[in-house]
Amino acid sequence: MTTDLEIARATTLRPITEIATRAGIPDEALLPYGRLKAKIDPALIPDTGRRGALVLVTGISPTAAGEGKTTTTVGLTDALAAAGMRAMAALREPSLGPCFGVKGGATGGGRAQVGPMEDINLHFTGDFHAITSANNLLAAMLDNHIHWGNALGLDTRKIAWRRALDMNDRSLRQIVGSLGGAANGVTREDGFDITVASEVMAVFCLATDLADLQERLGRMVVGQTREGKLITARDLKADGAMAVLLRDALMPNLVQTLEGTPALIHGGPFANIAHGCNSVIATKLALRLADVVVTEAGFGADLGAEKFLDIKCRQAELSPAACVVVATVRALKMHGGVAKSALAAEDVAAVRRGIANLARHVENCRGFGLPVVVALNRFSGDTEEEIAAVKEAMAALHTEAILCTHWGDGAAGAADLARAVRRMIEHGAEPYLPLYPDAMPLAEKIRTIARRIYRAADISLPPSVAKRLEAFTAGGFGHLPVCIAKTQYSFSADPTALGAPQDHILPVREVRLSAGAGFIVVVCGDVMTMPGLPRSPAAERIMLDDQGRIDGLF
Ligand code: ADP
Ligand code: MG
Repeated sequence: MTTDLEIARATTLRPITEIATRAGIPDEALLPYGRLKAKIDPALIPDTGRRGALVLVTGISPTAAGEGKTTTTVGLTDALAAAGMRAMAALREPSLGPCFGVKGGATGGGRAQVGPMEDINLHFTGDFHAITSANNLLAAMLDNHIHWGNALGLDTRKIAWRRALDMNDRSLRQIVGSLGGAANGVTREDGFDITVASEVMAVFCLATDLADLQERLGRMVVGQTREGKLITARDLKADGAMAVLLRDALMPNLVQTLEGTPALIHGGPFANIAHGCNSVIATKLALRLADVVVTEAGFGADLGAEKFLDIKCRQAELSPAACVVVATVRALKMHGGVAKSALAAEDVAAVRRGIANLARHVENCRGFGLPVVVALNRFSGDTEEEIAAVKEAMAALHTEAILCTHWGDGAAGAADLARAVRRMIEHGAEPYLPLYPDAMPLAEKIRTIARRIYRAADISLPPSVAKRLEAFTAGGFGHLPVCIAKTQYSFSADPTALGAPQDHILPVREVRLSAGAGFIVVVCGDVMTMPGLPRSPAAERIMLDDQGRIDGLF
């Protein structure tokens, strides 16, 4: 079998200057990072006033069988370009955590990939290092402030700021810092989050420019005094230096698909524990440059699309023209109760059962007022009967399900999907409908998402959590949207409840104020903000070959 890496390696990418010219990016706005990557300075691109259409790619609840949202985003962008449109993809930067853990990279697959995939998946242009450094600069300044007398009166038992690292490392989840005597500072409990779960990542992705970035960084809350007064990064005078560290990183990165279509890859918050979309700056830049911009929101539509719409689009005043829900027959079978080891056998009845998951995601996306099409990402083992079952069920919901083979065939395999998306764009959509108004009380916002999107009977809100929400409201943060952190595998907080569970109770465990990002994080069930590596991590199989090339990356 040819791997994603082998296909990528067999393709000759064009110089990035050529891709920039094709995208209408003037030379002076291009900062090349070698021959195949460049940062783009949006300030140096004249605004013609043109705005492209935004297409959201989202999916069913992910399973171990794989769905292919990124692959479909790339294939669709290539197909739109092949049909003569000025098309651009706007994607997230991969984190090293999943790369070395289980999931692998995030540059698409087969003939629908962005490149250079080794670079994009590993370090890229250093954005995540900058974000990690900015996060940890604030942590260092915070502990330093306490060490030198704690003039701000921070309650060291209630520090909210955590350190960050772009690595799956469970041993850092909960640590004790400053051991070894007075010279090493004040001993306190601390912990690390993976960089893609950090508030700095969210701020980076939601900022509209450098000034807004610095403003948001300054608003971030690091802790409180004994009297309950919030202490911010600005109080610690850290916002300026953090913005300095992030200055270059904030420029979007230009790369290309294997078919030479321009793609902006910038920012990368996880969708289960963060808001899950690429940067606002990159999306807005792409919309200025292209007629159609295809973007992916992480995991299933319950997490990715909901946050994309209720957080990113709300803050950035964007509205998608169309929504593509990606599904595979294999994943539907898993939602229908088939084990991963038994996916090879045809099982139309299981597909029919699993469709309940897809149908609910489609309904939910429609509920936001979006025109929806289903992309059925074909795997080689799918049978005609199984495919027909999906098409029939979607037709009953007045939704088109389009069979796509871009993984094997590149742009040609997504030509039908591109035609459907183009029709939706030309038809024009009303602005999307947010799920809840800003003025709704915070607990009610959580309940609305739980009931309308997850189809829960209710939420369970421990009194201590309810009290914190009340404190956030009293502090002037009640108007913020909520960012639910929960398992991506189920509509519920139970990762084993596949399909379309309903009438469950969403257990809210903890709430955190992200004043800089501009949302309240709501942690539901057991979700980790610092993942661990599996028993046999992908890293064990990644190495350099005798020519110094990277092997084993997928
Ligand atoms: P997602 O964005 O939904 O997490 P990706 O697009 O990253 O999924 O795809 C995950 C993996 O599945 C990739 O390694 C990709 O090569 C593989 N894949 C996607 N579509 C297909 C397909 N149709 N056939 C075989 N493998 C596929
Ligand atoms: Mg993806």
